Amino acid sequence: MIIAIDGPAASGKGTLARRLADHFGLAYLDTGLLYRAVGAKVRDRGIDPASPGAAAAARDLAADDMDDPRLRLDEAAASASLVAAQAEVRAALRDFQRDFARNPPDTPRGPAAGAVLDGRDIGTQVCPDADVKLFVTAAAEVRAERRLKELQERGLEAIYGRVLRDMNERDRRDRERDVAPLKPADDAFVLDTSGLDADAAFAKALGFIQSRNL
Ligand code: C5P
Repeated sequence: MIIAIDGPAASGKGTLARRLADHFGLAYLDTGLLYRAVGAKVRDRGIDPASPGAAAAARDLAADDMDDPRLRLDEAAASASLVAAQAEVRAALRDFQRDFARNPPDTPRGPAAGAVLDGRDIGTQVCPDADVKLFVTAAAEVRAERRLKELQERGLEAIYGRVLRDMNERDRRDRERDVAPLKPADDAFVLDTSGLDADAAFAKALGFIQSRNL
């Protein structure tokens, strides 16, 4: 079973993906982390993330690049969305993501029954044949509130207005880019989590998946 989950920043897709992976015994890949790692590598090399030099960093990506704690910061997200707009960077990461979906690694409880990938183009580009496609979204203000809370819980200083502005800018770039723009696949189930907590979002997604009789 392959589940593709796409959506804008802080829509709740990561939490939902982890819960679905746990429920169905699937391996989970946070594909945003790949783009964040490329963005960080590019910056460490002193290269402008918007320049074509980013593709070499994507080709050189190693598993331990994903362990860098800096990747969770908003600066890493901004660099990620700049490198992610480049076709060559996306091509360099595509095979790894497809291979993960086809040959998922074992889960902590044993062999995986499939994979769940979350990102921006999983249902449209990476796994267009996924068994289930979800597009998780929420109002920008709700997503910014969630993001603010998350940052504050991690002890980081953050201002709502700035979080909202940065998030809107990143979403706009992800939606308007020429290559693999953020959008729901034609056959995706759109789940608006604006008024839902994590449990309610999980219940809705589960109801949809069960209705598919896979
Ligand atoms: O999901 P996350 O917020 O970590 O993603 C960071 C950035 O990486 C996104 O804003 C987007 O530009 C890029 N991305 C992408 N395609 C994916 C996953 C992430 O373009 N499948």
